[in-house]
Amino acid sequence: MQRRQILAAALLIPLEGLAQTCGAPTPRQTEGPFFKTQSPMRASLVEKSAKSKLVLTGVVLSPQCKPVANALLDFWHADEEGDYDNRGFRYRGHQFSDAQGRYRLETIVPAEYPGRARHIHVKVQAPGGRVLTTQLYFPDEPGNRTDGSYRRELTMQVVRKGAQRDARVDFVVAA
Ligand code: FE
Repeated sequence: MQRRQILAAALLIPLEGLAQTCGAPTPRQTEGPFFKTQSPMRASLVEKSAKSKLVLTGVVLSPQCKPVANALLDFWHADEEGDYDNRGFRYRGHQFSDAQGRYRLETIVPAEYPGRARHIHVKVQAPGGRVLTTQLYFPDEPGNRTDGSYRRELTMQVVRKGAQRDARVDFVVAA
């Protein structure tokens, strides 16, 4: 009997956690000076010269925790020197979530640049919805402590697999 109660308690914790994270809208953050419109539609930003690989996956959810299909996800970030491509579209690309709300981005690990913790910029928009502009952060970065923009709620879950990092972030946007 007691054992059963403990099991039930263990099961309830993750369920509650899930309900909370998908109910709270993803926080907004400043766009910054380097956004460009008309990024190419592509799910991989990796180039031949890449020294690192980051695979970012997740789902786009409504505040009612329903998957949002065909949501626009537009990513941009710095290169491995901490520079943005403002002439072309290196490390810029957009894609749409699938029928289950899922997305997958293959890219590199962007370098930090002065004053900023390592981060990825993104705009997420449900079909016909308001654009969410925000930034994603890496865990265990010394820069997170000194960058005033850093938010724990916007930190990706990252697992290292050799030279590759697998990252996970779900978005909650108004549909
Ligand atoms: Fe930036």
